Amino acid sequence: MELSDRAKSIPPSITLAISAKVKELKAAGKDVIAFGAGEPDFATPEKISQAAIDSLISGATHYMPSSGTPEAREAIAYKLQTENNIDCTQANISINAGAKMTINLALLAILDPGKNQEVIVPTPAWVSYKPMIELAGGAMVEVPTSVDTDFKCTPEEIEAKITLNTKAIMLNTPSNPCGTMYSPEELQAIAKMLERHPNIYVLSDEIYERLIYGDIEHLSLGSIPEISHQIITINGLSKAFAMTGWRVGYACAPEPVAKAMNTLQSQINTSITSFCYAAIPVALEMKDEVEEMRKIFASRAALMYKLIQKWPNTECAEPTGAFYAFPKISHYFGKETPAGTTIKDSVSFVQALLDETNVAVVPGTDFGGCGPDHIRLSFACSEEQIERGVNKICNWLSLIK
Ligand code: PMP
Repeated sequence: MELSDRAKSIPPSITLAISAKVKELKAAGKDVIAFGAGEPDFATPEKISQAAIDSLISGATHYMPSSGTPEAREAIAYKLQTENNIDCTQANISINAGAKMTINLALLAILDPGKNQEVIVPTPAWVSYKPMIELAGGAMVEVPTSVDTDFKCTPEEIEAKITLNTKAIMLNTPSNPCGTMYSPEELQAIAKMLERHPNIYVLSDEIYERLIYGDIEHLSLGSIPEISHQIITINGLSKAFAMTGWRVGYACAPEPVAKAMNTLQSQINTSITSFCYAAIPVALEMKDEVEEMRKIFASRAALMYKLIQKWPNTECAEPTGAFYAFPKISHYFGKETPAGTTIKDSVSFVQALLDETNVAVVPGTDFGGCGPDHIRLSFACSEEQIERGVNKICNWLSLIK
């Protein structure tokens, strides 16, 4: 009995393998410091949870429309109009089970299998983009970037990858795993280039838009009138509101795309969980609690960056958004750890680090581009953990020969 080629093409996640090892070590009583988390370590603000509880108790336990409740759709459209300057209405909105599902549905809505369609993605990029593009029948075309440019690419570099087969471009700012973001000027320049390619969609993944720490402002590509008909803005409640487990994501897309996404959703999983809709307007109105969390992340970002800069023979871009630092550690390839292991690559670096210091980080291997020369550290953990863990790595690096 054979599995489908599709199922066989999906790679297992190295990140999950590391998480499993961390769990094993913790269960064995080891004091492991883990920098792997891709989610805020805060609880969901109570007002948001209460809205869902009230909705559940009051009987919102039945099937819901695939396009979502009018209140939730209106709240999302209002947020995008007022905060992101995107000219939209409820008709442009699709609400899905997490931004991951939103991206999957958007890709299913625009890609055809068997037609050699390509999606251009600057790399390193979030590990799920490639499998999602391939599952929808497309191929990912990388635009490699490096730490020297804060992992950002130019309009020219993107344009050089455009062919007759290009169906879409995926942009993620602020970025997972790079922790950096494009400035409004850089995005305006990309928009100018996009004007020359009016039939190419752009999936603009803005899930980390609220988690920014420097003086760069976030700009939504969907707010630029000349290209707004091409833009599918992706966002969700997971990161800014500490709601990863709720699974609430959304897109603002040209009306036919939003409609197609809702129709696809109606056949795949009907809708998000009924009582989560009531939490959406409450979350999107929340300002103070979100700003509190952002300030804490900002202080952690500064601390982690300061400590990583003390690491010998590494390079790190300053984290200006999301909650990741992405230092380059390839200087250590071919060298020997204090316990006598030869570091072959990012994965063996991470394994030896965990074995010898009980500090867990994520190898950059699966992020594409120069990712294999890097490791990712999430600062969604306490300052005490950052101080201890990042200094432990520093000591270990200084003993590598
Ligand atoms: N986009 C990026 C860049 C992410 O890092 C993530 C989560 N790791 C998502 C989208 C998906 O978020 P969710 O499905 O939790 O809404």
